[in-house]
Amino acid sequence: MAIEERSSAINASALQTNLRGQVIQKGEAAYEAARRVYNAMIDKRPALIVRCADVADVITAVNFARDHELPLSIRSGGHNAGGLGICDDGLVIDLSLLRYTHVDSDRRTARVGAGCTWGDVDHATHAFGLAVPSGIISTTGIGGLTLGGGLGHLTRTYGLAIDNLLEATTVLADGSVVVASEQQHPDLFWGLRGGGGNFGVVTSFLFRTQPVDTVYAGPMLWELEKAPEILHWYQHLITTAPEDLNGFFAFLTVPPGPPFPEHLHNKKVCGVVWCYTGPLDRAEQTFQPIRQFRQPALDLVGPLPFPALQSMFDALYPPGLQWYWKADFVKELSDEAIRLHMQHGPQLPTLQSTMHLYPVNGAASHVSNNATAWSYRDATWAEVIVGVSPDPAQKETITDWARAYWTALHPYAESGAYVNFMMEGEGDERVRAAYRENYERLSQVKRHYDPANLFRINQNIQPAL
Ligand SMILES: Cc1cc2nc3c(=O)[nH]c(=O)nc-3n(C[C@H](O)[C@H](O)[C@H](O)COP(=O)(O)OP(=O)(O)OC[C@H]3O[C@@H](n4cnc5c(N)ncnc54)[C@H](O)[C@@H]3O)c2cc1C
Repeated sequence: MAIEERSSAINASALQTNLRGQVIQKGEAAYEAARRVYNAMIDKRPALIVRCADVADVITAVNFARDHELPLSIRSGGHNAGGLGICDDGLVIDLSLLRYTHVDSDRRTARVGAGCTWGDVDHATHAFGLAVPSGIISTTGIGGLTLGGGLGHLTRTYGLAIDNLLEATTVLADGSVVVASEQQHPDLFWGLRGGGGNFGVVTSFLFRTQPVDTVYAGPMLWELEKAPEILHWYQHLITTAPEDLNGFFAFLTVPPGPPFPEHLHNKKVCGVVWCYTGPLDRAEQTFQPIRQFRQPALDLVGPLPFPALQSMFDALYPPGLQWYWKADFVKELSDEAIRLHMQHGPQLPTLQSTMHLYPVNGAASHVSNNATAWSYRDATWAEVIVGVSPDPAQKETITDWARAYWTALHPYAESGAYVNFMMEGEGDERVRAAYRENYERLSQVKRHYDPANLFRINQNIQPAL
């Protein structure tokens, strides 16, 4: 039976009867808003969206999709650039109602429902002077970001999000529920840490929290013409700095509004967004040589609560923009790579388009490449080139710029990219390249937990034969 015939034959009211949550179908008032994801370039029309209220609902939805042979996608925060949280003609498990964060300050852990955004987690943990390492935008979902790895402001200090994951409660393809940890289902736990949504639906995450409260952080910007020397200097600094200093490099356009001074509005610049987590009374001293290297055009670095850093760029990137991403891991910025960055980076086609180099060294590199599914611990950066625009008419412009930039730099990068920075449909070879020598083991774990590849709307790992 074709997918369309199957989806018209499904009895959604029978499904609704077994749920505490809600089934949303095509034609219903809530459908249009419910199918929308963060990247407005994605326009998929699922047959059913199941807003699960609890684990029992997730089990019911998994069983229903499997028994009706429906394509199945899993949605946590809906931020995936390739739109992997949603699907055409299938069933979407929407986890947004599973929204709770319980902090145990004695054990320094946080149990987090799969529908939380990182802003929810930051809010709950900050009250105890704690934080879970995550990304750089507070509206991103914890589900996709964690299962893909999770890198951000605390990576050099406390590792990836997965390095702070202790347990994942997971609904498997057969509808059973397991808790994966180092002790229980260790093979599944290994695969979940980087393998994305390939193995099941994680309904709750138990994280180790870290003592992060007020940080000394923010953006420091320099004129574009200084970018080559800043890149050379930054490369040396970030590969030798103490691990309590994080900083990602960016080409960006200065937004036309406060807190940016008028003379910089709409100017293309380069910058580093710093996050220092060491003792505050040593912060000025740590930044003295940084500030002395080249006079910044703007220095907004200072003490601020960690959640303020985490949400600093939210307003610049509201939901509903067009996004096109290209990514790679990078070990070294050679002179030629810097020359090519200077050729493409300053051509940013829109206000929100950018190129970021996120350090994955420091604490993240203390874990070996095969200790978790995330195989690029030996890279220095995760590079991402993002074309972003509010205007659908600029879709081609932003896509062409990101592709040309990536194509020029790819020969100077590793063959694989961070899965969370990849678009849909980049191909099996790119997925294999993302996991390198870990792919074969992932494929075995997939065969054990999801032999029929029910969970395939993701950067898909094929079950071993
Ligand atoms: C503006 C922006 C900033 C970003 N910044 C960072 C960053 O700083 N660091 C970083 O590491 N990444 C970052 N990302 C990338 C981000 O990690 C991915 O887009 C991720 O997929 C988003 O997770 P989500 O839950 O919101 O996505 P969704 O679209 O909801 O889900 C994406 C996929 O993840 C899987 N998934 C999600 N939840 C579950 C679950 N509970 N169980 C099983 N599978 C699940 C599914 O395969 C799903 O298709 C950013 C993305 C955006 C758009």
